[in-house]
Amino acid sequence: MKTNYLFRLLFLFVILVLASCQKDDNQIILDSQEIVPENVLEQISALGYSTVGVVPIETYENGMGYLVEGDIILHPNNLNFEPDQGTYLRIAEEEQYSTTYTPEFNARTYNGVLYKEELIIALDESLPNHYINALQRAANRYNALNLDFKVVARWEGDLVRNLRDITVRPTNQGLASAGFPIVEETTVTSCPRGQGCQTVTRTTITAYNEILINPAAVNSNDIDYIATILAHETGHCIGFRHTDYFNRRLSCGIEYFPNGTPTTGNEDVDFPNTEGAVHIPGTPTGEDENSFMLACIDHNENRPFTNNDQTALIYLHGL
Ligand SMILES: [Zn+2]
Repeated sequence: MKTNYLFRLLFLFVILVLASCQKDDNQIILDSQEIVPENVLEQISALGYSTVGVVPIETYENGMGYLVEGDIILHPNNLNFEPDQGTYLRIAEEEQYSTTYTPEFNARTYNGVLYKEELIIALDESLPNHYINALQRAANRYNALNLDFKVVARWEGDLVRNLRDITVRPTNQGLASAGFPIVEETTVTSCPRGQGCQTVTRTTITAYNEILINPAAVNSNDIDYIATILAHETGHCIGFRHTDYFNRRLSCGIEYFPNGTPTTGNEDVDFPNTEGAVHIPGTPTGEDENSFMLACIDHNENRPFTNNDQTALIYLHGL
């Protein structure tokens, strides 16, 4: 009888293990602790992002998010976005710039002098000293174009009245990451005397407020390389997705469908419905493998803005 009891215990144990395996069937286990819920993966997939390697990430400013495509942070409120909302700018044959929400920058001329809106990026004081040179170089790349905003690079401690739009902070996850612009809707009800009340909903779009960078993973003194990373993450903050987001074979070597299966490598077969993109006049029809918004980068690689990058930035933010 005792053997039988042991057997039954073992059997019960096996059933329990099987049951827990089945429960985990539809979830990706990242390590022993972190699990991304299935409904979150479905939402990420519906937005057109790969669900391969999604990792929960803690931010300083915006709570918990999910790291997708290596360096994009999606927060729970991003997961409800309409997937087809945005601007698509096609370049070459293989890539396109895509933006979800684009912040509006207000450049003004006053007494004949042009004042551009400043996008102030502040570096956490704990980051390596040479990062300020890299951030300044990234700023110079944006500021060399005639855009309606001007990037200002500062150490956090040098800020005037603590004003900043984006803070660069250290992390130990990934290489670097950032999120997409913050969309806020405010409803204002005004009741002018004798005219009844009016309710107006106003949408404001501001740059995402944080870039995370991992000095251990960057592991470099190459100013151009770090400038490239910071310019890329700033691109996400103002709404750019990856140029090669529907064909990451270009920079990453392999691409997966959002559900995790590898693509065939044939664009027409894999993505038959990639219509609706705005073609940027004057861009070449061949490949452009150097865009600053490509998803993957080699160590110490430098990617200053290509002609196409400049065209896209000017198209969206030119004066
Ligand atoms: Zn990126």
